[in-house]
Amino acid sequence: MKFETKAIHGVRTPEKGIENWGSTLNMATTFPIKTYSEWQEFEYSRVSNPTRKDFETMIALLENGKHGFGFSSGMAATSSVFTMFEAGDHFVLSLDIYGGTYRIINDIFRKFGFEATFVDTTDLQQIEAAVRPNTKAIFIETPSNPLLEVTDIRGVVAIAKRHNLLSMVDNTFMSPVLQRPLELGVDVVLHSATKFLGGHNDIIAGAVVVNSNELAEKISFAQVAIGAILSPFDSWLLLRSMKTLKLRVEKAQANTLKLLDFLRSHPEVEKVYYPTEAHNKGKAVHESQASGGGSVFSFTVKSEAKAKAFFESLKVALFAVSLGGVETLVTHPSTLTHTEFPEEEKVARGVTRTLIRVAVGIEDAEDLIQDFKQALEK
Ligand SMILES: *Cc1c(COP(=O)(O)O)cnc(C)c1O
Repeated sequence: MKFETKAIHGVRTPEKGIENWGSTLNMATTFPIKTYSEWQEFEYSRVSNPTRKDFETMIALLENGKHGFGFSSGMAATSSVFTMFEAGDHFVLSLDIYGGTYRIINDIFRKFGFEATFVDTTDLQQIEAAVRPNTKAIFIETPSNPLLEVTDIRGVVAIAKRHNLLSMVDNTFMSPVLQRPLELGVDVVLHSATKFLGGHNDIIAGAVVVNSNELAEKISFAQVAIGAILSPFDSWLLLRSMKTLKLRVEKAQANTLKLLDFLRSHPEVEKVYYPTEAHNKGKAVHESQASGGGSVFSFTVKSEAKAKAFFESLKVALFAVSLGGVETLVTHPSTLTHTEFPEEEKVARGVTRTLIRVAVGIEDAEDLIQDFKQALEK
């Protein structure tokens, strides 16, 4: 089945003999034990719940993987996955990783003896050079936030195989509609399901998908032991959202291309950043591993005062963090999402005061262009 068909028909749970066209919301925390001393699939909902199971089946189907796991947030997913490692283990991660991932590695897991090196993963040589005898995994995000730089997923997989490491990709920005890292040989795919999978800025959730049974057992153990699980209600809402995932991703991307056309030639705009932009050095790699540039982009204006006026003048788009929802959101990475880095480091990396990040929604493209136009010309 193709993606759209799987998203609509991939999960149909019969309950008490009634055939459903969707998933049944089952809020129970405990289930009657049917036979003394015999295993049954659903006993207690931290361990497994029918509605969470349906979400897990669906995200595995959409990522073309074997085992899916639902977590209470993207960070719950990432932290639970990292508990399969031990003190003394070392990891290589993208320098441009999501701030929360940087924080759990540096401020929490380091206390438990984990070691980490953050490198510019757009340069495969830097990844390979960072590998040590105790390295256990490479963790990347592509395209990166907020400059949409591209890491070569197949290249990362090759390095991981050569050194017997796990490869992990945070696939939040692309969603399984545009990029499916497991198909390229990646071991672990992670999502903040809060973003595209949820799609309406009203669910905090996370997901993990793997192919290997051995990895699935470890992640399942972490999920049950730690208990940072996705609730049945949020699982059910996500299943509903995912039926329209492809429509939303495609419409948001079409809007993005139109907005980019407008911004590229606007006199107040200096530069736009997008995975398939001609000046992006990862353009060809991105096009070889994803089927579109997505709906997150950044651009710079000529002064901080201009950026401030832009944020204050928007009438349709909202000034807020997050992405992947139906509403267009604009954010200021320098003061909102990248606050843990010192100013000089941010500037050196291109996260300047004049940089604006846009997460495009599914409104009418012309309304968005008019809104950006009036805000830029204020
Ligand atoms: C939002 C986000 C996360 C964290 O997810 P939460 O659901 O907020 O915990 C992780 N990675 C990326 C790329 C994100 O955008």
